[in-house]
Amino acid sequence: MTKSKPGRSGFSGYILYKLSLTVLIVLSVAVTANGSDSPSSYVRRPQPPKKLNKPVVLLISCDGFRFGYQFKTETPNIDLLISRGTEAKTGLIPVFPTMTFPNHYSIATGLYPASHGIIMNKFTDPVSGELFNRNLNPKWWLGEPLWVTAVNQGLMAATYFWPGADVHKGSWNCPKGFCKAPYNVSVPLEERVDTILNYFDLPEREIPDFMALYFDEPDIQGHEYGPDDPRVTEAVSKVDKMIGRIIMGLEKRKVFSDVHVILLGDHGMVTNCDKKVIYIDDLADWIKIPADWIQDYSPVLAMNPRWGKDVKNPGQKNAELVRKMNEALSSGKVANGEFLQVYLKENLPQRLHYSDSSRIPPIIGMVGEGLMVKQNRTYVQECSGTHGYDNMFFSMRSIFVGYGPRFRRGIKVPSFENVQVYNAVAEILGLRPAPNNGSSLFTRSLLLPFGETSQVE
Ligand SMILES: [Zn+2]
Repeated sequence: MTKSKPGRSGFSGYILYKLSLTVLIVLSVAVTANGSDSPSSYVRRPQPPKKLNKPVVLLISCDGFRFGYQFKTETPNIDLLISRGTEAKTGLIPVFPTMTFPNHYSIATGLYPASHGIIMNKFTDPVSGELFNRNLNPKWWLGEPLWVTAVNQGLMAATYFWPGADVHKGSWNCPKGFCKAPYNVSVPLEERVDTILNYFDLPEREIPDFMALYFDEPDIQGHEYGPDDPRVTEAVSKVDKMIGRIIMGLEKRKVFSDVHVILLGDHGMVTNCDKKVIYIDDLADWIKIPADWIQDYSPVLAMNPRWGKDVKNPGQKNAELVRKMNEALSSGKVANGEFLQVYLKENLPQRLHYSDSSRIPPIIGMVGEGLMVKQNRTYVQECSGTHGYDNMFFSMRSIFVGYGPRFRRGIKVPSFENVQVYNAVAEILGLRPAPNNGSSLFTRSLLLPFGETSQVE
């Protein structure tokens, strides 16, 4: 594990400058307050000329950054954003299923997966029978992501590997130079950061107003070794260094105090082991379930039974199947059966917002935290890490930090769902938001009113 100190020499002078400025402000306010009781005579905080005269948002996603990873090791750069910004106190709540594509697209659109259509990373549409496997055909990608909202309303956007950003929609055609795609794991994080930083060297009117940057760590290490492995700690440290690289790069260009940096993740990570498995074939005494009825085993059991043409009422057969499965699972005779609950999709808990789409298969099994579902015992796996479970589990939560002129400073807010992010970004950029599942009032808990800024630099 490497724990080198980030290069912060530029910061010490900066912090001294800030401290002296703060003293100056406190003194000037005190003097004014003594000298007059009229509020209009208060001396305003001195504002140096701004380098950037337009709002800019840099949205950064660290895939699989489970809430709490920031306590695994020193994260001075993330800490700096937290101390000067607004943080979700106990993490950002992902949407269900807590998978990468549904969540990145919920962050970008403010919609639940049932509404934006990306209901899993990979799925077969039960109606058309077509397979979605991260296809770029816009028919799969419903709703309006931030980069489309931005360019439709005359702003500029740039994306780097953000899932779904290479889909052509509205006025957005994934322009070369401002839309890095397709995703390529071998592109170093440094290169991704530097590409974003280079945009700030453009004349101001050409600097993208909205930028979305994607890091695939610490998700990769988390899957491979599980969330408690030292290699995950190392990946967290690496991500923090990338945040440091961004801060230093913005500092060097004298725009750090003008840019809104939103740091978040799509979901968390939990350990799963080969002993914590529910085998579908163990239910055979109650009901036989062929493997081709199952689209996905875990962490979400997704079933689309093929009853055959002679079955007149498949809905009734599905309900019967669900009843028999739950009877088996609660019998005490199926290993780990108590950790799987099967539902007709329309009976899933409302809080999951996971029924109102024809793409969602008719039967969904909610798998206990860290458990896996498999057809039979032919497959053995060592301990590793995964995500996709119920978004109620804390292990599925990620982080949220919002830093910049419009964010409240040094504030912690209660956890919220990531569908709220869209409205916040739209408000910062002065965009008319597309219809979404976030609350327009929610932005008030994160953002200062327009015209008021938190900056004292
Ligand atoms: Zn992910």
